[in-house]
Amino acid sequence: MDIRALTKEQLKEEMARIGEKPFRAGQIFDWLHIKQVKSFDEMTSLSKALREKLKAEYTLSNIKIAEKLISRQDNTRKYLFDLGNNIIIESVLMKYSYGNAVCISSQAGCRMGCKFCASTVDGLERSLTAGEMAMQIYEIQRDIGERVGNVVIMGSGEPLDNYDQLIAFLTIIGEGIGIGQRHITVSTCGLADQIDSLAQLKLQITLAISLHAPNDDIRKKTMPVANKYSIDRVISAAKNYADITGRRVTYEYALIKGVNDSTENARELAQRLRGSLCHVNLIPVNDVKENDFVRSGENTIKSFAEELTKNGIETTVRRRLGSDINAACGQLRKHYKDRMNKN
Ligand code: SAH
Repeated sequence: MDIRALTKEQLKEEMARIGEKPFRAGQIFDWLHIKQVKSFDEMTSLSKALREKLKAEYTLSNIKIAEKLISRQDNTRKYLFDLGNNIIIESVLMKYSYGNAVCISSQAGCRMGCKFCASTVDGLERSLTAGEMAMQIYEIQRDIGERVGNVVIMGSGEPLDNYDQLIAFLTIIGEGIGIGQRHITVSTCGLADQIDSLAQLKLQITLAISLHAPNDDIRKKTMPVANKYSIDRVISAAKNYADITGRRVTYEYALIKGVNDSTENARELAQRLRGSLCHVNLIPVNDVKENDFVRSGENTIKSFAEELTKNGIETTVRRRLGSDINAACGQLRKHYKDRMNKN
């Protein structure tokens, strides 16, 4: 069990289980998430005997920077982290006027199989622990010497396919480095049952749904998850989330030339979303060398956005950051792994 994946509450339960006093939980939590130590031996306020006991009971997740790329265009930084045993994940730092935002991975690889996405090409290697998710933020803060204030869980992996660790992670970064729920976005390909569970927790995080299509026929062409949950089931889960939490849901929509980008598609999408607390974020699809999808042209994107707005749906077009360093969607991890395999 990764001790860094435990919330304060869970650490207290663990201390009871191994016969230690409850206040040890707070001490250990501080070492792990405030001082962010990399070994049990650095926890110098604990006796040697207790440190040995912890070593016997738990593992301690560590990640290290394998590679770092800094965009010359806009200061976006892309990190490849080594989790050990040849597991590589990626994270991205984006600098905005309001502060630093980090995009983290929730799994190494992914089993959702979206056809336009590079993270899914080799399937799922394994899910990350809550500690490994948090470490991505800690290591980036350490590297830049600045605080990170916003987190998006939009790197490789499907966060709701790693539900319990995700929830622990959200708690831990609130308790530890004070990142509040309103500064966190969780992006999902639309696992409706888990969205329902998340809604019941009444958190204040932003939910982003990767919709990428106006109907099931088109969605099934690019997203296998559409065979499990219909688009209406996904949208109704998202509406329920907005109703219960009062948080506006974001729908992500990557525009792919000739697949989902017609004016008719925009109208159908608007009809489906009408009356819900949401906004649509249009993304020009990124080229991935493993597939043939082509990004829609500027004018198509503009007309698509206009059609949505005209039909009463609030719409933004995502700025593309770090395009010179492949800072998108599992591309860098994939290239790195391919390179390692050639050597
Ligand atoms: N599994 C989660 C989060 C990771 S993907 C999800 O599906 O939301 C983060 C976002 O990047 C998703 O909206 C995903 O659909 C999108 N994405 C993946 N590959 C892309 C590509 N080639 N171009 C544009 N967006 C892409």
